[in-house]
Amino acid sequence: MEKKNVLSVKNLNKIYSKNGLSTVNALNNLNLEVKEGEIFGLLGPNGAGKSTFINILGGTVVKTSGLVNVWGFDLDKNPRQVRASIGIVPQEVNLDPFFSPRKLLDLLAGMYGIKKKDRITDDILKLVALDKQSDSYARSLSGGMKRRLLIAKALVHQPPILFLDEPTAGVDLELRQQLWENVKLLNKQGVTVILTTHYLMEAEEMCDRIGILSNGNLVALDTTKNLIDKIQTKIVTFTLNKVLSLDMTSLNTLKIISNSNNKVTVSYEKSKLKIEDIILFLSKQNIKILDIATDDANIEDVYLGLTKS
Ligand code: ADP
Ligand code: MG
Repeated sequence: MEKKNVLSVKNLNKIYSKNGLSTVNALNNLNLEVKEGEIFGLLGPNGAGKSTFINILGGTVVKTSGLVNVWGFDLDKNPRQVRASIGIVPQEVNLDPFFSPRKLLDLLAGMYGIKKKDRITDDILKLVALDKQSDSYARSLSGGMKRRLLIAKALVHQPPILFLDEPTAGVDLELRQQLWENVKLLNKQGVTVILTTHYLMEAEEMCDRIGILSNGNLVALDTTKNLIDKIQTKIVTFTLNKVLSLDMTSLNTLKIISNSNNKVTVSYEKSKLKIEDIILFLSKQNIKILDIATDDANIEDVYLGLTKS
């Protein structure tokens, strides 16, 4: 069965004016659709327009032109229903230091007009692994816990779509992993997830599809797999039985990246050279290969290629 679109954006533009003197085209004719149940990643360097996009949906930035439809609701005609359909985890941590997670979520539920008996505060706290900290002051939480509390806040009204704006910026590796586990769990429960990041490896691991923004332009939009397939450069590390001291320039496009302690790391274009050619070359020189590790292509390569041009 064809999945329905839960987000559709047509010719979306945002022009900021700076002190009335100059203007910035933060979003340039953006066209995008996200399907129900997807984890969609919006990637791009700082200033690409990622937060602008999310904040237009959240109502804190007003679009210049274009159409936005969320969960079947038009942003111009039904802004409240749009807001009710989405939860936003903002880029900046803004928490009242003197509220506990439970207090904060209860207050928010009250603001949404959710009756006490309909609240799922405890479930949310468990989901983001803050059940043990539910009554501690927000200021006493670690950075990772604060991030998870932001996710919890975005879930109070049980929105079917969750937006996360660089949720792991400044969060250490282990906590990042935890955070993404929480997000994957939510997605399994049916929540459509749209996230922005400039950690490309993360997007690669998390997302079904990826869009790449550069200076307000969508320069790529594809499945994560297709984007990776487009990447030409392969990186391989060979562990050899001796230190390599050969001229390998006869191998088309091959470059030696590093060469020490019997380990040599090379890069090559996979359309021009096959790994078998390298293996054959080495074995002809009586060099034994003890181990081969390939560094699978990552989106960084595509991304750099696309955003540089
Ligand atoms: P990202 O989140 O991808 O880093 P942003 O959406 O924050 O990008 O910013 C996109 C562009 O819009 C940048 O050039 C930024 O300087 C500009 N911009 C963002 N917010 C404002 C604002 N309130 N006023 C003027 N320019 C802004
Ligand atoms: Mg941003």
